[in-house]
Order: sequence, then structure tokens, then C-alpha cells
Amino acid sequence: MTSTLIPTLASQGESTQLYVTATHKVRDQSGEPPFGWVPYGVQHAWTAGSRKTLCGEWTSGWTVFWDRSFSATRAEACPACVEASLPEASRRRLDPALRRTA
Ligand SMILES: [Zn+2]
Repeated sequence: MTSTLIPTLASQGESTQLYVTATHKVRDQSGEPPFGWVPYGVQHAWTAGSRKTLCGEWTSGWTVFWDRSFSATRAEACPACVEASLPEASRRRLDPALRRTA
């Protein structure tokens, strides 16, 4: 007997805001001072109140960029977070394990 209980994201409509979070941050020195912090390295998606990224990484000690929305089109975007942020319909298409058999 196999029980595969996959914790599903509570989808409360389309209002869930995804923010960028990253393990490192650097000063953006491309513009005028004051220089703001910008993510360095892989950018993960994170929802307010969560302790993990969409891809399941613990965000303890990570920097959340409240002024940045997670964008799946960025080259630095975490592929797993991109996939997790996709609409459920396309996720089912990607992952056969989530497809329900009649
Ligand atoms: Zn990620």
C-alpha cells in the first residue's frame, strides 16, 4: 500500500505574490547612489510567510527582495521554482505523477 501525500500549495486564487529570494546579495553599483541590494546568483521564488522557497529550499538566512517579483523569464531564475510557479494545468502536463487517473 502506497500513500503518496504530496503537500500541495494552498492555492487561494491568483493573488499569491511571489518574491525573489537568494542566498547572497550584492550592492547594485550600476546606477546612482544610494545603491540598493540586488540578488546574487540563483533567484528563487518565495511567498510571504513561507519558510521555504517554492522548490523546497529552507530560506533561513536568505535575503528576500520585497521590491522584486519573481520572474520565470529571468536567466537567474531557479528552474525548479519556475516549474513550481507554473499553473496547475501545465504542471500536471509536466509531471505524470501528479496526473490523476480516472
Ligand atoms: Zn528554487
